[in-house]
Amino acid sequence: MNEGILLLPKLTDINSVVQILQAAVVLDNSLKAYDESMQYAERMYALGTDSFSVAKCTGIADIIEINFLRGENDRARSLVPEAIKVCDATGSKIITLMIKAMAAIDLVDSGSAELGISAGIPLLLEFAKSNQTSDFVTQLEDAIARAYLKKNDLVQAERYALQAYQSAKLEDVVQLMEKSSETLAKIKRAQGNMASALDYYDINLALKKKVLDDQLHKNLAYQRVKFDTQDKANQLTLLEQKNKILRTEKQLEQKNNQNLLMLIALGAILMAVLAAWSFKTLKQKNLFRLSSQIDGLTQVSNRSHFVACGMQQFDKSAGSISVILFDMDHFKNINDSFGHSVGDWVLKSVSDKVKALLPKAEMLGRLGGEEFAICLPKFDQHQALALAESCRAAIAAIDSNPSGFAFPITASFGVASCGMRELKEFEDTLAAADKALYFSKTEGRNRVSLYQ
Ligand code: GH3
Ligand code: MG
Ligand code: MG
Repeated sequence: MNEGILLLPKLTDINSVVQILQAAVVLDNSLKAYDESMQYAERMYALGTDSFSVAKCTGIADIIEINFLRGENDRARSLVPEAIKVCDATGSKIITLMIKAMAAIDLVDSGSAELGISAGIPLLLEFAKSNQTSDFVTQLEDAIARAYLKKNDLVQAERYALQAYQSAKLEDVVQLMEKSSETLAKIKRAQGNMASALDYYDINLALKKKVLDDQLHKNLAYQRVKFDTQDKANQLTLLEQKNKILRTEKQLEQKNNQNLLMLIALGAILMAVLAAWSFKTLKQKNLFRLSSQIDGLTQVSNRSHFVACGMQQFDKSAGSISVILFDMDHFKNINDSFGHSVGDWVLKSVSDKVKALLPKAEMLGRLGGEEFAICLPKFDQHQALALAESCRAAIAAIDSNPSGFAFPITASFGVASCGMRELKEFEDTLAAADKALYFSKTEGRNRVSLYQ
């Protein structure tokens, strides 16, 4: 039953809903659980509409019965006219009869024996005509029997009481058997038939015990099922809550993952930007460093860098180093005769030519204007002299025609090696080479002189 009730919200067929609610009302009434049965009855009544008034009729009939069962007779009575109206309109004849039967029984129970009989007997005929069995028939017969007993019409009383007892027995309704057996016992006592009265009292006592036992068993079973169902419902709620928590946890995890991914992406972007920035800075730094070390026109070391490198090499090679110094001959004339750009072209051509003859390009430096120097670690004066001679010859062999003009290109060379005479420092060696160069100039240019 409880499972049926749990199913109710899912049911769309209103007939099935009414059937389940009606069964719940009957069950709860038999268990004397009137608060519960009233809830179902009211629920059923509320379901009724103008086009579906069966629910309304069944519901209000149940409400009346429950009120009678729990002793709220005034409330039950007040609803009877309305209930008859609703059920008449619906065409639920049998339910109308039941409501009227309840009202008639109430008349008897409330002391109006005469009224109860006159209302009850026609109803029994109506029930008989309808060919439908109902507990209300038995209850009504018993009530009429009690009414006659009150009136001291013992013959009629016994007749109706026996009818009630027989139909209760036939339908096997223990509660009604118990009730009608008690009525019969009272009638027998009133008749003075004590032996028969005692027999009925015995039967009544046994039935009372059975009713109580049944009630107890039903109640126990009902409580067990109720707790089971409640337990199931609680478990379901718990599971739903767990699912909700799991869903929330999952969402949180997803959000965390998203945040983590975003953080990683942001980190990666930041790293990339930083790397690009560092790379650019490094490149710029290198560029600045190079531009401060390299001569823009010839792309060889400038004076300061050349001297710094020369000193380093001097230390590394433990003083075994030679220096070649050379200066373009009559360079001013070239500038004056063919223009400064031709002079630049000559400087570029000369440095390229000399670089090509050196073991390492970085050995060449431009000391200023049209003056160049070559640093030669581990070169003795003979090797240096030979290289200077090669350079001189190469320069003299440069074809000036690509510049647009034909003119001779020569340079004068000075060579000095460390270890010669007093030369103990790189700069001394450089100065000595300069002296030798000056000597070449005075000796007629386009030649190589060794510092003596
Ligand atoms: P000498 O044979 O005695 O060395 O005579 P010179 O004419 O070569 O020497 P001088 O010192 O009289 O002239 C050098 C000229 O070199 C003067 C200067 O204008 C020129 N010069 C210096 N630097 C550059 C440069 O970068 N480009 C050009 N085109 N000319 C330069
Ligand atoms: Mg010169
Ligand atoms: Mg010069």
